[in-house]
Amino acid sequence: MQIPFVDLVSQTQEIGPLIEPKIKAVLTKGDFILGNDVAEFEKEFSKFCGTSQGVGVASGLDALEMALRAVGVQAGDEVITAANTFIATLLAVARIGAKPVLVDCDPENYNIDPKLIEKAITPKTKAILPVHLYGQPADMDPIMEIAKRKNLFVIEDACQAHGSTYKGRPCGSLGHMSAFSFYPGKNLGAFGDGGFVATNDAALAEKVRMLRNYGQRVKYHHDVLGFNSRLDTIQAAILRVKLQRLAGWNEKRRANAALYGKLLAGSSFVLPKVMPYSTHIYHLFVVRAQAREAVQQFLTGKGISTGIHYPIPTHQTKAFASLGYQDGDFPVTERYAKEILSLPMFPELSEAQVTYVAEAMREFESVRV
Ligand SMILES: *Cc1c(COP(=O)(O)O)cnc(C)c1O
Repeated sequence: MQIPFVDLVSQTQEIGPLIEPKIKAVLTKGDFILGNDVAEFEKEFSKFCGTSQGVGVASGLDALEMALRAVGVQAGDEVITAANTFIATLLAVARIGAKPVLVDCDPENYNIDPKLIEKAITPKTKAILPVHLYGQPADMDPIMEIAKRKNLFVIEDACQAHGSTYKGRPCGSLGHMSAFSFYPGKNLGAFGDGGFVATNDAALAEKVRMLRNYGQRVKYHHDVLGFNSRLDTIQAAILRVKLQRLAGWNEKRRANAALYGKLLAGSSFVLPKVMPYSTHIYHLFVVRAQAREAVQQFLTGKGISTGIHYPIPTHQTKAFASLGYQDGDFPVTERYAKEILSLPMFPELSEAQVTYVAEAMREFESVRV
């Protein structure tokens, strides 16, 4: 059996007949930039996120950067964020000329450890940027409490959390603003790049609307230094169709995760721990293994593709060497980077495929003892 890590083709085949007429309609109308589907999708996805406002942009990275700029983060400011994240979280801060100040992760949920945040605050701190990594919410209540007390903004990196909830509320509605990505492999993926900023603050949303479109509210009246970072109308039309399926797809991911959990219970693999306050939507299903390289090789031999998210902690990348962190500064993140392994996870993965993966992992254990 060959099991891919993700499968973007079968989903497209399934809903292709629904999407093609929508793309055709955009071609017929010719409203390629900021067309009707963008406005409609902004209403629909912000409703899904539980916010009153939403702005479609060109990527998750741009969404993060423009949200940070909207709350007033400037060159020289500091933004506290997770050491354990994808590089884009830090890049969004660095592109402004601000400094990412990293905090290690909680050993159980892999997200920023709220207990370590206060020590990282300085007079230059402007915002906290928690990440809902792998689709599991960060522990937001203590983060919001610290932010309130210290007068800081909170931007959620919800790029892996389309539909996760924290204490019954959707990720993306918990901080002052949030950023989503529609990169094809995300739980809600476009046929190319796309992103979104969600917020309940109309004034902050308006700032992002200006920023994404050359800094103008009225055509050729450029009030701020803007970007060209708009969600394409064609992508919005595609996303509108896919959004209707998202909750069902997330449920299928959760069912696959539950099956992995059942089949691997009692094994030596450390399974994702779902916090009592959250629903996890398993953008990634990440286990930990002591002999990670050997497990991965064994699975490759069985036709099973896996991934590592992420092999090099952000502070140990060459790109962020200038931050001046040392090996050992974020011990949990550093240890996990050597142990984590992402198993195949997508809605169309069948029970038989999950069972095949789990059995292969059991077999690996039995041959090693
Ligand atoms: C994907 C991702 C981003 C960036 O999104 P792009 O659309 O690729 O720019 C940012 N943060 C996290 C955690 C992500 O997973």
